[in-house]
Amino acid sequence: MPYTPSTYLPYDFANRRHIGPSPEEMVEMLEVLGLTTLEELIDETAPASIRQAEALDFGAPKSEREMLWFMRQIAKKNKPFTTLIGQGYHGTVTPPAIQRNILENPAWYTAYTPYQPEISQGRLEALLNFQTMVSDLTGLEIANASLLDESTACAEAVTMAQRVAKSKAKAVFVDENCHPQNIAVVRTRAEPLGIEVIVGDPFEDLEPEKVFAALFQYPGTYGHIRDFTAPIAALHEAQALGIVVADPMALVVLKEPGAMGADIAVGSTQRFGVPMGYGGPHAAYMACRDLYKRAMPGRIVGVSVDSRGNKAYRLSLQTREQHIRREKATSNVCTAQALLAVIASFYAVFHGPKGLRAIAQRIHRKAVRTARGLEEAGFKVEPAEFFDTFTVDVGPMQGVIYKAALAERINLRKIGTTKLGISLDETTRPASIEGLWRAFGIDRKDTGGDGQYRLPDGMVRTSDFLTHPVFHMNRAETEMMRYMRRLADRDLALDRAMIPLGSCTMKLNAAVEMMPITWPEFANIHPLAPADQVEGYAKMLTDLSEKLCQITGYDAMSMQPNSGAQGEYAGLLTIRAYHKAQGQGHRNICLIPTSAHGTNPASAHMVGMKVVAVKSAENGDIDLDDFRAKAEKAGENLAACMITYPSTHGVFEETVREVCAITHEFGGQVYLDGANLNALVGLVKPGEIGADVSHLNLHKTFAIPHGGGGPGMGPIGVKAHLAPHLPGDPAQGESGAVSGARYGSGSILPISYAYILLMGGAGLTQATKVAILNANYIAKRLEGAYDVLFTGQNGRIAHECILDTRHFVDTAGVTVDDIAKRLIDCGFHAPTMSWPVAGTLMIEPTESETKAELDRFIAAMLGIREEIRQIAEGKIDKGNNPLKKAPHTVEDLVADWDRPYSREQGCFPPGAFRVDKYWPPVGRVDNAFGDRNLVCTCPPVEDMAAAAE
Ligand SMILES: *Cc1c(COP(=O)(O)O)cnc(C)c1O
Repeated sequence: MPYTPSTYLPYDFANRRHIGPSPEEMVEMLEVLGLTTLEELIDETAPASIRQAEALDFGAPKSEREMLWFMRQIAKKNKPFTTLIGQGYHGTVTPPAIQRNILENPAWYTAYTPYQPEISQGRLEALLNFQTMVSDLTGLEIANASLLDESTACAEAVTMAQRVAKSKAKAVFVDENCHPQNIAVVRTRAEPLGIEVIVGDPFEDLEPEKVFAALFQYPGTYGHIRDFTAPIAALHEAQALGIVVADPMALVVLKEPGAMGADIAVGSTQRFGVPMGYGGPHAAYMACRDLYKRAMPGRIVGVSVDSRGNKAYRLSLQTREQHIRREKATSNVCTAQALLAVIASFYAVFHGPKGLRAIAQRIHRKAVRTARGLEEAGFKVEPAEFFDTFTVDVGPMQGVIYKAALAERINLRKIGTTKLGISLDETTRPASIEGLWRAFGIDRKDTGGDGQYRLPDGMVRTSDFLTHPVFHMNRAETEMMRYMRRLADRDLALDRAMIPLGSCTMKLNAAVEMMPITWPEFANIHPLAPADQVEGYAKMLTDLSEKLCQITGYDAMSMQPNSGAQGEYAGLLTIRAYHKAQGQGHRNICLIPTSAHGTNPASAHMVGMKVVAVKSAENGDIDLDDFRAKAEKAGENLAACMITYPSTHGVFEETVREVCAITHEFGGQVYLDGANLNALVGLVKPGEIGADVSHLNLHKTFAIPHGGGGPGMGPIGVKAHLAPHLPGDPAQGESGAVSGARYGSGSILPISYAYILLMGGAGLTQATKVAILNANYIAKRLEGAYDVLFTGQNGRIAHECILDTRHFVDTAGVTVDDIAKRLIDCGFHAPTMSWPVAGTLMIEPTESETKAELDRFIAAMLGIREEIRQIAEGKIDKGNNPLKKAPHTVEDLVADWDRPYSREQGCFPPGAFRVDKYWPPVGRVDNAFGDRNLVCTCPPVEDMAAAAE
């Protein structure tokens, strides 16, 4: 049948939202490739030996309205009760200005991690505000720009402490008053590393010389406010470290960890305006003493200067990529919680220190009033002094009162068989307090407070915090709105241009998919809410898991890991547990190709495996001989291999089945990194080609936005034999828990679910094919100008490709950095730089980009190639040229122009819009300066004033 747009695809109309090129454009693009149908391209690209036999079928795709109606029916099955459970999750109010201008604003949520500082100044400033806020509240000098959740932050703090403590003890002490999920995740992390976990009472059981660190919860999970100054001093005597897990809202009114001598503080900023969301996402924080800053995991925003000496932000210590350096990895954190950290920081900017104090004091007074009502009715409340949380021993009445509270639509925490836990928050209304009293059989009106406090003497905060002017802005919403807009305007996100980052899959995050996540039935649910209040979540989790299993060919899914790297870690733990159960616990070698993402070896280290690197062959594929030799050598110690498919070189390797077979032959398990699933969905199932477990980056393939560096979700799929070893429930203290909440960042799963419902099986498959078409179209159009480093047997690439730019250094003195910065002038975010091959660019357009946008990018790349040619031919100066001086700012334009090329050429290269030109707010950022002069909190006022002008 001839190929015409009208016969092209029946479901075409429904999926026009996600698929960039129109049918007519696809015809033109295929022509460039010398083909007539998309099928031909796919047949040339993905080897027949790996293709799935049957098409994906999820029934008819839903329209936007159908999907929203369907999601409403699911949402209605969730019941957002008043939740006083506490245990690390609290009701909070997201100021509407923040919800609308940040959470629901694609300028913020579609941005990528700020690796290119010149196009990221807005979110870098917001994250610096976050670090300043954390540093102030905890009383410690250095803070990072977020971690995944409080429990993983506890685990990171423990391993960080082991690295820096002088004590050589092999155990860590964990306060029995830590939230159960924190203890569970620390146990998971400690076990493979041979760290003993001693749980006990810090004032009775802590023997400092036996541990390298101790972890204390503040306030404790049952509400106790304890001063850890003495135990920390004793730890220091023994060369060990003190870690405090602190609730930032409590720190507003309570003595800060720094004042107790703590070395590290971690915690969750959830209650700073981020809904509970059934467990996540929220930003965890980590702060430490200046002494330990170079051991800190996660990203740290710092202050540096640009080419004109003006202040500019960027990620500091980037060259060592902090913690995920292959052989010396200490942590695998990659995607973190940038968007949620931005929201929390704006919550602090929005309320300022006075507002925060008012909120914290109100929460405390409500708790005091509630407790007094109970006490006056004869109930005994414990502890006597608390911030927002206390327990009541009700003996045999536990069940009755718990149920009576449910009848008032209030959730309490059951503790043991006789106690109930109560935790009040910013959202608690007098009606809820009265309802709670009724559940206890008390008829009483909440008439407001008489201002009573029950904070322990000597524990009230005396130091200032949030003194920086950014936290003292005029609080009119006009001013706040404009500040958020100003920062957003400094950044280049998907709402302005294609972000062709290889391996990152920056596809459309459709507006309609984002809508359900702010519905209260998804947002305002505690992760420990009773099962009959979360039937909607349960239904969605089941159906989404089934669909993901169908897509991947796996038998079971765990939704717990809240990033890709966490998925790797969870998957390797699953493999490890499986080997143990088979009596093969000695298996500890993991084969990983040198081209693997840095998180792969980092995750392997975290589960105590030894990494053996496997070489790449000349054509970029895994060197099969080397692979077999290394597998053979590992022999009965082979635990696993970690491969990426299609490979990080952007090619469908023909030998993937063989790699899996060799691994199995020697008793190992195959971990297939699913970051490139956007090239597989509907075409190839990892579970069918020999893999045993994979993570899926829902924030890549399945439309969850990157949020400027998080959130993400990295669920893992496994074959049946691994299913019994998937992560356990953290709140129940089950083994293998990797996140604080059972379903990770549950509240963003509706995005991926909506995406699948809208696309249907055929639409998803079409998206994969078009992703491959878009990549091949770019590669073809750039042929002759740039060399594509690796291709498959028919000269085709998968959904991404690597351009070799290394020789330009010799011919023109042009580095890959220069090209990346010049692309900013053209109005683009750079492709992935220097990974997986140093000095190269990796391009992944995704299916969402239209032909016009691809052509604009191609024009930009060809224009840059022409400039390189002119430099190489000596027509432009090697040091003073548009590439070396890129990016060009308005400041450059109006300053004295001392350059051998025109302003026009400098500022408006091919690709750049004239009217809608993107102007970077700073010139090229000096990374070395920033690392030499590390400043990781908001700089002094004078600089701020200068920057604002
Ligand atoms: C993105 C990516 C990861 C890590 O995922 P995060 O969600 O950032 O932790 C791992 N492997 C590959 C190949 C990736 O592209």
